[in-house]
Amino acid sequence: MTPTQKRECYPCSLCCLYLKVPEIGKPAYIWCPQLGPKGCKIHETKHQVCKEFICEWAAGAEEIPEELRPFDINVVFLRLKGRKGETDTIFVDEVYPNHLGEDKVQEIIQAFAEYNKVIINPVFEEPYLYGEREDS
Ligand code: SF4
Ligand code: SF4
Repeated sequence: MTPTQKRECYPCSLCCLYLKVPEIGKPAYIWCPQLGPKGCKIHETKHQVCKEFICEWAAGAEEIPEELRPFDINVVFLRLKGRKGETDTIFVDEVYPNHLGEDKVQEIIQAFAEYNKVIINPVFEEPYLYGEREDS
């Protein structure tokens, strides 16, 4: 089930960099050519993957303070709902290098880790399960 959007994205537009948008051949981690100074230029008709994408900040997750949009911390948090009562998984996707270690990001990760499985996905390293490395 897709989460409901509870917070207004603008001025964050980080998913326009981070997302792969097959309809326009946009690879992940390349800024979208449809992005203008005030956000998506085709807002009304934007592509399905963009319409459906709602990160945990936009979904209003209480673990992420409202003033810390993904754009401000360079990290996107995503939730995968667990099936049939299983624990949810939170994916912590670093978009620019060297931001996962920041105190404000670590506090958010720890808050999610209390009730969820957390997968950390650094820019230049393989993903790993939070708590399974000495530095996590
Ligand atoms: S990363 Fe999240 S807050 Fe930022 S534009 Fe995308 S959905 Fe909105
Ligand atoms: S189509 Fe619009 S919402 Fe989708 S990635 Fe491009 S600029 Fe962002």
